Amino acid sequence: MTPTVRVRFAPSPTGPLHMGGVRTALYNYLFARQHGGTMILRIEDTDQTRYVPGAEDYIMEALAWCGIHFDESPANGGPHAPYRQSERKALYKQFSDRLIQSGHAYYAFDTPEELEALRKAAEARKETFIYNAATRKTLRNSLNMSAEEVGALIAEGTPFVVRFKIPEHSVVEMDDLIRGRVVVKTETLDDKVLFKSDGMPTYHLANIVDDHLMEITHVIRGEEWLPSLPLHVLLYQAFGWEAPQFAHLPLLLRPDGNGKLSKRDGDRLGFPVFPLAWTDPFTGEKSSGYREAGYYPVAFVNMLALLGWNAGTEQEIFSMDELVKAFSLERVSKSGARFDPAKTRWFNQQYLLKRSEEQLAEELRIVLNNKGIKAADDKLVPICRLMKERVPFVHEIYDEGRFFFEAPQSYDEQVVKKRWKEESATQMLQLAAVLEKVAEFEPVALDALLQQFIADNGLNTGAVMNALRLLLVGTSKGPHLSEIMWIIGREETLKRISAGIAHLSQITQN
Ligand code: GLU
Repeated sequence: MTPTVRVRFAPSPTGPLHMGGVRTALYNYLFARQHGGTMILRIEDTDQTRYVPGAEDYIMEALAWCGIHFDESPANGGPHAPYRQSERKALYKQFSDRLIQSGHAYYAFDTPEELEALRKAAEARKETFIYNAATRKTLRNSLNMSAEEVGALIAEGTPFVVRFKIPEHSVVEMDDLIRGRVVVKTETLDDKVLFKSDGMPTYHLANIVDDHLMEITHVIRGEEWLPSLPLHVLLYQAFGWEAPQFAHLPLLLRPDGNGKLSKRDGDRLGFPVFPLAWTDPFTGEKSSGYREAGYYPVAFVNMLALLGWNAGTEQEIFSMDELVKAFSLERVSKSGARFDPAKTRWFNQQYLLKRSEEQLAEELRIVLNNKGIKAADDKLVPICRLMKERVPFVHEIYDEGRFFFEAPQSYDEQVVKKRWKEESATQMLQLAAVLEKVAEFEPVALDALLQQFIADNGLNTGAVMNALRLLLVGTSKGPHLSEIMWIIGREETLKRISAGIAHLSQITQN
C-alpha cells in the first residue's frame, strides 16, 4: 500500500518570506491536495542567532492571504506536535548520540580560529579546505583520541561539535523527481556539523529527524538545498530509515534572466519580492508587498504557480481548485524561471475583469474613502465599467480616471498644441449653450446631441471631440466622452468647459 502523501513547508523565521518561498509552499500545497494528503507547516528555528521577531507571524499571515492552509502546524497542532523546532530541542540529542555510537558521527574540538587558519592556508595554496576523510585524521576530533581523552574534554566543558563522517571513496546516488538521477562523489562533501555543545542541532540533523518522525513522504523545496541532498541521503542511510522522495524546484530568476531573484532585489527593480509589506524590526527598512500593491491573492498565486510549471496546454488562468487538479511535479522545469513583472500585472487584470462591476465599485469606494475623496455612489459602477479594461488594479481606476472626480489641474501641452485651434473656443462656447439646454443629460441623448451639433454647424467630428476632451479631461485619453459628461454631470461639464476655455485662451495668446 502506498502511504498517504505527507508534505511539509519548513521555513526558517529569519525574515519575511520571499515569493520563491511562497511558490515552494504553494507547490507543496497543490501536491498534498491533489493526493488527498496532509500539508504541514514546520518552523525551523534552531539557529537562534538568525531569529527575526515577527517573521513567523509574517509567514503565517502571508500564506493565509494566499489561501495556502495547513493541516498540521504550530497554530493548529497535530499528531506530531510541537511543530516549532525550538520546542523540540530536547529530542535531537539522542539522534546525534545514536550516530556517534554507530560510528557515523564523531566529536570535533577544533576551535573556530584553528579552522579559519586551515582555510586560509588552503586558500594560499589555491585549494579549498574540506573537513572530511582527506583531513580529519590530522585534526582535533574523537577519531584520533582515546575514549578517556574525549570523555575528559567533554567533562571539562570544552566546546565541541558533532560532525557527520562522510564515507571515504564512495559515491552517493540519488533520484530527484524533477532532476532525475544525481550522482556525487563523497570526496567533494564536507563532514557537516550536526549538533553543537550548546545542545542545539543544526539544520541538517533537525530537518532529517523531523522529516522522519513526521512521516514526510515527499520533500519539495528550492534548488538551493540540492547541494545538501547527498548529506541528507547519507543521513537516512546511517539511521537505517527509508528516505522520502525529493523534488528540488528551479530558482526564480530576475526579469533580465541574470541571476537569482533575491530578497534584496525587492523595490530596487521596481516590483515587490514579498507577498506582504514588511518593516525590518532592526533597521526599520521597509519593503513593499503584493497585497499592499493592490494584487488579488488569487492573481498572485496563479502567477506564481506558472513560474516554473506549466500545464502543457495554452491555459494560463487557473483557480486554486484547477491548479490542484492540473499540477504535476513532472511538468516542473529544471531550468530557472524568469520573473516577469508585466505579466504579473496582466494576471491581476485578468482577475479584475472576472469581478462584477458591483464588486469593483465596492473596492473603488474603499480606495476613494482612504484618499478622502467623495463620489456619488451611483456613479461608481459605471466608472468601473468604463475603466476596467484599461487598468490592472482598482486603485489605478482612480489614478487613470481622476477626471471623474476632479477638474483637470493642467492641460497636456502636446495635446493643446495639436488639438486646440483658433476656432476651438468659439465652437466650445456654442456647444456649451446647447448642453445647457438639453433635456436628458445622459449618454445616448448626449451622443445624439453632439452629432447634431457637428452636423448643424458643418464641423469636423475629430476637431470637436478632441477639443471637448481636452477641456473635460486635460489630455487626449479616457473613455467615451458622453459617458464622462453623464458621470460628472451637467453643472461640472459646463464649469470645465468655461474654465478650460479661459485657461487655454490665456496660454495660446501668450
Ligand atoms: N529551513 C529550511 C529553509 O529555510 C528548509 C529547507 C527544506 O525544506 O529542507 O528553507
